[in-house]
This record gives sequence, structure tokens and C-alpha cells, in this order.
Amino acid sequence: MDVLPELSPAIKLEYHAEGGANIVYRIIHPFAEDQVFEPQPSEIPHYGASTPPPTEIDDTINPDIDADINITSGKLLRLRKNVRYGLPYRDTAQDFQKKIRPLFGDEELVDQTMVRVPHSVIQRCNAHLKEREHHRKRPAIRCGVYLAEDEPLGMLVTDMTTSIPPSTANVAETESIVELKPKWLIQSPSAPSKARRCRTCALRDMKRADTPSPSDSRNSTSPPLPVIIPPGKAQFCPLDLTSPNKKDMQRTIRHIFPFLLPEKVDMIADALYQHPILQKLLSLQRIHDEVGLNGPLPGSKDTNLSMTLRDCSVFLKIFPSTHPSNEQQARIDIRLGDLDLKSAANGKAEYWLNIEKRLIDEGWYMGTQTSQAATEGECALSR
Ligand SMILES: [Zn+2]
Repeated sequence: MDVLPELSPAIKLEYHAEGGANIVYRIIHPFAEDQVFEPQPSEIPHYGASTPPPTEIDDTINPDIDADINITSGKLLRLRKNVRYGLPYRDTAQDFQKKIRPLFGDEELVDQTMVRVPHSVIQRCNAHLKEREHHRKRPAIRCGVYLAEDEPLGMLVTDMTTSIPPSTANVAETESIVELKPKWLIQSPSAPSKARRCRTCALRDMKRADTPSPSDSRNSTSPPLPVIIPPGKAQFCPLDLTSPNKKDMQRTIRHIFPFLLPEKVDMIADALYQHPILQKLLSLQRIHDEVGLNGPLPGSKDTNLSMTLRDCSVFLKIFPSTHPSNEQQARIDIRLGDLDLKSAANGKAEYWLNIEKRLIDEGWYMGTQTSQAATEGECALSR
């Protein structure tokens, strides 16, 4: 592999967000330091109640950091956690180049580049994670897991978040970013033929019954609570994302982003309606259908492209219109991310298989569970 660029040990990072296997950091350039601000939850849904806002990680300033600016400009830094199913980044990057990159054009993907990360940076980040935990600024379910200190690499990924300070720009004129998880755009190949729920809607119903949230126990006559729903948790049917009926897309976007202004909802729906990236993802999911009962066998250690294509994110970066009179002309950049190949190892294959068996055996696909009376009509298959 080529010689990789190395980040300065003095690089300044701030915690941005984290998932099960990685933590994403914002890179602070000295000249931009004054411009850092906390993103508005209304524009970045994954800063829900479970994800704390960014906090600075380092107070030192080193002029040598200039050397990093060329490669880190416009990028976020993703670092790997020390979890049992985490693959070294070198393997992840090779898999990505071999199996994912050929499926898409450069303009369809959130770009990612590998860099060497000094060990001292990882240690500093871990010390700060512990500090965040101490101050209860880390999601409770993430506590106790830190960055892998034996991982020498990090990933620079295209920063799809806004960095324009609200004090110097009209909010309506700034870029904004939204993320959504399209999930399963087609039904599971092993679902019953007369199913009244697609795989995503059936699983959502099942999980809701397994762990009812406080909002589900509210009086049925109460209006819905205005909560920020993380991407992947919104109550919409993925089949609507590729529906030939534009109204399905509009209703879906309203459900996913209930906090956005109606004009912006329509703008996003217009941009996404029959968008080539969604159509491509749909056709790729059709081709790669090793899922459900047809998924990897228990004990498999293979990577699984089919499940990867069903858990990626769509990032929409909305640029303000240059013609104030024509808001509809605003440009939207749509890219796919979160496409690291999933591994079936460490019990994942069994986990996926058990989910499918439960969805079939317990009637979740057919919508026959008592609790599913409340979600009738949510899934395109139940209308
Ligand atoms: Zn559905």
C-alpha cells in the first residue's frame, strides 16, 4: 500500500458523534477556531438526546498544524473503537476499494481517505472520552468503550456538516445537512408472500413491542410529541422512497424531518423523488439479496455486501439558493455513506437469521400481532 500521510501530533479535534464501531471527530484548524459552533439539532437529526454536542479535545495550539490543513480541509476524522467485531482500518479500506467503490461513481459517495494517526492523539482522545463520561456527556450505552490504541490509522471522510457560524450568516442562507437511512428498499426474499409489513416496518414493530418507549404509552388522543428522531429510527416505510407516487415521498420526508419548514420538506422531497442514487441502491439491493433466511450461515466469517447496502446512509447537503425569489432552485448534493462492509463474524450471521425467523414465526410480517393494529397503514404493504 502507498505511503500514507500522517497527521500532526498536535492536531486539534472535537468530539462530533459516535456509533457502535467508530467515533467521528471534527478537525479544528487554527484560523477557523473562532468559527466553531455547536450545530443546530434542528438540522442534524443524529444529535438527538442520545448524542451530546461537540466539545473541544485539546487546548494546545501548534503552528505545525498548518501541514495538515491540505489533507484535512473539509474532512471529518473517523477513529476506530476497540470492539470485538471491529476490523483494522487497513482491511476495511481494502474491502471498500475492492467491493464497494466499483459499484458507485465518485460523486455518489462520501469520500474517504486513510491517514496515519500518531499514538499520542489516540491516547489524548481516550483521556477525553473518560472525561466526557465523568461529566455525563457521553451516551450511556457507549460508555466504557474507547478508541483502539493499536490502530495506527484513521479515516478522513467528507464533512457533510455545516460550519458557518450563525452569528455571521442568515440561517436561511447557510448550508444544511440531513441524513437518512433508507434501509430495505425491497421486501426480504424470505418474507411471506402476502405480508402486510416490509422487513423494515416489521422489524420496527417488533422492536417497539420488545422495548416500548414512554411516548408509546401516551393517551391515544394526545398529539404526537415533538421529538428529534435519530436517522434509522424514523417511522417511515422505505418502500415509499422509491414509490412512483411523489406524494409518498413528500409524506415520508415530513415524517423523517418533522422539525423542518414545509418549504424545505418539499425541496428535499423534490430532490429525492426518483433520484438516480436511490434507484441505484434499489437495484443493487435486488442483485445482492443474501439476506433473511438466505443470509450468511451461522458461523460464517464472510463480509456481507447485501446487509451493508441495507444499512448505509444518504446524506443530503442543501445549498442555499443564489436567487432569493426562487427557493426551489436550491442545490442539493446527495451522497451515500456508512458503507463499510459488514462482517457476519462474531455472531452477526446468527443474529440476522434469528431476527428473520422471529419476524416470520411471530407474525410480524403479516401484521397479526396485537400491537400492530396501531401501525396499520404505516407500511406501504398495509395500505
Ligand atoms: Zn414498510
